[in-house]
Amino acid sequence: MISEPFIDYQKLFLEMAEELREMDDIGTIASYIPELRNVDPNKFGIHLTTIDNQNYCLGDSNDKFSIQSISKVLSLALAFELEADKLWDRVGVEPSGTPFNSLVQLEYEKGIPRNPLINAGALVICDVLVSRLKNTKQAFIEFARRVSGNKNIDYCPRVAESEKKTGFKNAALINLMKSFGNIKNDIEVVLDFYFNLCSIEMTCKELAQEFLFLASNGVNPLTNVRVVDASKSKRINAIMQLCGFYDEAGEFSFKVGLPGKSGVGGGILAIHPGKFSIAVWGPKLNSKGNSYKGMRILEFLTTRTQSSIF
Ligand code: GLU
Repeated sequence: MISEPFIDYQKLFLEMAEELREMDDIGTIASYIPELRNVDPNKFGIHLTTIDNQNYCLGDSNDKFSIQSISKVLSLALAFELEADKLWDRVGVEPSGTPFNSLVQLEYEKGIPRNPLINAGALVICDVLVSRLKNTKQAFIEFARRVSGNKNIDYCPRVAESEKKTGFKNAALINLMKSFGNIKNDIEVVLDFYFNLCSIEMTCKELAQEFLFLASNGVNPLTNVRVVDASKSKRINAIMQLCGFYDEAGEFSFKVGLPGKSGVGGGILAIHPGKFSIAVWGPKLNSKGNSYKGMRILEFLTTRTQSSIF
């Protein structure tokens, strides 16, 4: 058996700081949600939390930012816990290979989205949660706070409103799915919850700590809250591995080799099961919509430590 290399995180973070000083800095900030344009493009932060609660950080790791699609992992966890395998009657677990808001496959596949991490799939998950939770928005944010014991986690009404005014593609997706019978609730109610879900703000530290349960068989070791059972935790990681980076999931697997999820706010969450969760944030996105520097620094991390899930 090959033994796992020991990771000296302190040293690793010094090396990452050095790497970042040398790194080119390209990409463009997301602007299709007007409120996201107001972010300083030069921000960059990293926070890593190990399952035994050692914490390492760099840069702007205590600045709040819009986690956008990363929150789809949390809504998936709750819906999966509530519905168990019935969930898969309404949404698949296959990579889409198309942009996150694409309508193309959805018509061919009769309103069943490819996976829960693209917009169509996340809208179905929101519909499930609207059916399941009375006062959905409040119940969901309380769930998010309970997972990491952090009362500061909240929606950003400005970002949610801004997306509501321009979210025509999401409106098209949900209408198409409603026509196939895969949305049970009122479209406006589901969309409102979806835009709020995407507007959640966290710092890199909060993000890493919120999702530590996926590195620890479904229990957040910081709070002892069981979010999902071990089997579901494994499956959520599998979905992130295959579907977490829009149509760049293969590239992320190839270069970084960890399950993860990105968002158009420039955040990336990655999990090393049994070891750590890490959140990075750099608002400038590459052509596929993933944080340019975020991808590069995570590639550096797993290359330098010779440690990925593969
Ligand atoms: N709220 C964004 C949208 O629906 C999320 C996109 C993302 O982060 O992938 O377009």
